[in-house]
Amino acid sequence: MTSKSAPSARGTKYVYSFGGGTAEGDGSQKNLLGGKGANLAEMARIGLPVPPGFTISTEVCTYYYANGRTYPKGLEKVVDVHLAGVEKKLGKKFGDPKNPLLVSVRSGARASMPGMMDTILNLGLNDVTVEGLAKASGNPRFAWDCYRRFVAMYGDVVLDLKPVGKHERDPFELILEAKKEKFGAHLDTELSVEALKELVAEFKKAIQSKTGKTFPEDPMAQLWGAIGAVFSSWMNERAIVYRQLNSIPESWGTAVNVQSMVFGNLGEDCGTGVAFTRDPATGENLFYGEYLINAQGEDVVAGIRTPQKIATLQQAMPKVYDQLMGIRQKLEKHYRDMQDIEFTVERGRLFMLQTRTAKRTGFAEVRIAVEMEREKLITAEEAILRVNPDSLNQLLRPVFDPAARNAAVSEGHLLAKGLNAGPGAATGRVVFSAQDAFEWASRGEKVLLVREETSPEDIKGMNAAEGILTARGGMTSHAALVARQMGKVCIVGCESLRIDYAQRCMTVKGDAKNRVVMEGDWLSIDGSTGEVLEGRLGTKPSEVLQVVLEKSLAPEASPVYTLFATMMGWADKVRRLRVRANADQPDQATNAVLFGAEGIGLCRTEHMFFGGDRITAVREMILGDSVEAREKALAKLLPMQRGDFEGVFRAMGPRPVTIRTIDPPLHEFLPHKADEQKEVAKQLGISPAAVAQKVNELHEMNPMLGHRGCRLGIVYPEITRMQARAILEAACIVKKDGVEVKPEIMIPLVGHLNELKDQEKLVRQVAKDVFAKAGITVDYLVGTMIELPRAALTADEIATVAEFFSYGTNDLTQTTFGLSRDDAGKFLPDYVRREILPADPFERIDQAGVGKLVKMGVELGRTTRPRLKIGICGEHGGEPTSVEFCHRTNLDYVSCSPFRIPIARLAAGQAAVREGAKISGKPAKAAKAAPKAASKKAAKPAAKAAPKAKPVAKKAVKAAPKAKPSPRKVVKVVPKAKPVPKKLVKKVPAKKGKK
Ligand code: PEP
Ligand code: MG
Repeated sequence: MTSKSAPSARGTKYVYSFGGGTAEGDGSQKNLLGGKGANLAEMARIGLPVPPGFTISTEVCTYYYANGRTYPKGLEKVVDVHLAGVEKKLGKKFGDPKNPLLVSVRSGARASMPGMMDTILNLGLNDVTVEGLAKASGNPRFAWDCYRRFVAMYGDVVLDLKPVGKHERDPFELILEAKKEKFGAHLDTELSVEALKELVAEFKKAIQSKTGKTFPEDPMAQLWGAIGAVFSSWMNERAIVYRQLNSIPESWGTAVNVQSMVFGNLGEDCGTGVAFTRDPATGENLFYGEYLINAQGEDVVAGIRTPQKIATLQQAMPKVYDQLMGIRQKLEKHYRDMQDIEFTVERGRLFMLQTRTAKRTGFAEVRIAVEMEREKLITAEEAILRVNPDSLNQLLRPVFDPAARNAAVSEGHLLAKGLNAGPGAATGRVVFSAQDAFEWASRGEKVLLVREETSPEDIKGMNAAEGILTARGGMTSHAALVARQMGKVCIVGCESLRIDYAQRCMTVKGDAKNRVVMEGDWLSIDGSTGEVLEGRLGTKPSEVLQVVLEKSLAPEASPVYTLFATMMGWADKVRRLRVRANADQPDQATNAVLFGAEGIGLCRTEHMFFGGDRITAVREMILGDSVEAREKALAKLLPMQRGDFEGVFRAMGPRPVTIRTIDPPLHEFLPHKADEQKEVAKQLGISPAAVAQKVNELHEMNPMLGHRGCRLGIVYPEITRMQARAILEAACIVKKDGVEVKPEIMIPLVGHLNELKDQEKLVRQVAKDVFAKAGITVDYLVGTMIELPRAALTADEIATVAEFFSYGTNDLTQTTFGLSRDDAGKFLPDYVRREILPADPFERIDQAGVGKLVKMGVELGRTTRPRLKIGICGEHGGEPTSVEFCHRTNLDYVSCSPFRIPIARLAAGQAAVREGAKISGKPAKAAKAAPKAASKKAAKPAAKAAPKAKPVAKKAVKAAPKAKPSPRKVVKVVPKAKPVPKKLVKKVPAKKGKK
């Protein structure tokens, strides 16, 4: 470090120099110097050719806003000293009439905020220095072109001459156009020195007359004007919105980089370009980028000229190309990650203007991480941390061709945005009813099902559709939950949609073009971003699915699969958490195993009630007025449920299967429309009035807190008995066929120990009877969901009976916050946007509140029963930050929808690595709180799962010779219950589902 720093009057160092082979800062100081400033310093330190300059730190920005937009005392002097340092390095002087130093003034926050804040180039030019530049460059046209660009940029950014209102044109553009017309020039480059001089004068005049401000001729005044404008741009509207969208806190502030200008537009031996050290779309290890000869950076971006591919630079400027290739390697070696660079060539000399860690697609993320490990650039532990688990969705789902998506957006086809509930890309013709979705799909059409919201009767149509779009609902709404479990692309809570079922069309609120999407029109939805686009966009199928699920592609024929499998192998080797699936159907269970599920964490039995004749029997049971009548109906249901469980057990083989007894309120199984009630009455041979009366009797003000969960089994013990019998008889049958089974019977919505005691007693009685009749026994567990605060608070008592806990964090979030999971979609996005909540708590577990209850429950539960097996089966089980929380909280497993299993596996692996576990070393230790025996068990399958992922899958298929594909393609779900505010009771449609 040779350059001298000048501390401010208060002794704080506010300005850091860089360039000429040295720097005062370094790459680690992003918080202080911003990303751009820190990397410029780092590049200078490692000897890359960086034009000298200095960075005014983010602390000055903080001071600026905290002190009525003023600077720390003495800052001016410090800037003077640093500017003098730059002058010395370059042998040029700022404001020198003969050979003027020109600078750029740019923003640079901690996180990249591309294009959101202001930049000024060519600063230091005035009526005198422009002549000096003309002489020094030997190119007056170039000098005057720089000058007119600078005056316009300064006039806009610093002196605020901008278009007023969205219909007004840019005032500088208008003057430029008139000038081109006057001189008969088609392109800017055809303007003569004369014309450029006129432009400069007219720009200054326009600034004066329209803003009352004079363009400053004094370079120091220009510099301070620009510094102030860049700090001010931290609070411009664009920057504020970008920060909100990307969760960047306002308190971070921006740094300001003042850097000497280098010119790529001085002739044919000059140029400028941008490049990535690897391909950011595919991750391939090749230099990827574009450049333009004789151009400034903005020309590459502006798209007036078509840039050349970087490979052609080898012929155009061989020396520069070789130097650039060397820098590419040096940067990757130094940063140990792919970089995104900007460079300029001035008279054959290469300068580096920027480097930063490059953004990349999910495909590139995985490929680069795996290949860098192979290149020994990073360790496997680092490689696994390099991949955002959610990025795996890009490998596991169909995606839109990015070029087609970008074109559609820029052509104005983006209709609306909703919550990204089920990732992937889907395109299809719009239908507004599930029945239509089913019928259209049966005749070979690709359809998108668009609904206000979905309910259990829509299941058939949801299954048939390519994707689902709803105007209402949140991340745990029926549509979101079921779509995820089915692996469907899904957007929910798209509040701007106006759906007219009668006219079979939809419009978008506030749509300037007043577009109407009719039934049958093509629509495309991106469930990863929440974007709804008009028209038909091409999708790319997932190679990983073709290998893993469809088996239509050999693993060795898919490089993407190989990379994916390597990443999964590392995660499995190191993770401590086991990963199970939420699955209700044998086909879902089979998929789950293929994705690496180590068990089923939640089988919602009521999801089976809608298949075949089950619903008739369920309704007969509900309408039965006596125990005998109900038992008669349940007897019809028993073999059907038993068959369902058999299928699931066979698909899962020796893996544990947690089956939950009935949970939703009974009214959800009855029709609420008069004509449907009539139909049911006819089927059951009773009067429609009797059906209507039962619906009325079952009506609740707040069904989510009403007669549901274990409260049903307590009042109607015959239901629990039937379900326990179906589970255990199925287990015995399957065991007799030589398939090992591990049923875990789970009682939902327990708030008091006595509730669990009551239900456990019933289950144990039934088990005794079933085993006696079958002549064999099956090891089984009885446990409970922890989804009410009281259950978590009294977990020590509950654990005296429960052999396992499973956190139902959907309900636990709902009941802890007092927030309806179905209605919160109306206001939660606002909460998140305004930072009232950091994230949607139904998507990411609220660690401070709900998480505290989880932690408390784990600790209390294990004080009573040290070996207590504990998992989570709420939707959070597949969300990476929540998975990490579960790891830290010493849960044994997470359970999520089948398509999220790889995401959970990776997130669990990352959690272990963050705690210091080594992939190459021994398997990770099991949860600290868990006893030794349990620890061993926990570690083993995790360590083995990766390499054996495929054989396991095969075994599972073999072990289930009789596991026919699900008799129904349709996944059955029960109707939803929604708390109904008193006032709205009449208006609310009766068919609201819990899930
Ligand atoms: C839960 O509440 O988290 C849960 C898994 O149960 P459900 O979503 O079925 O209410
Ligand atoms: Mg629940």
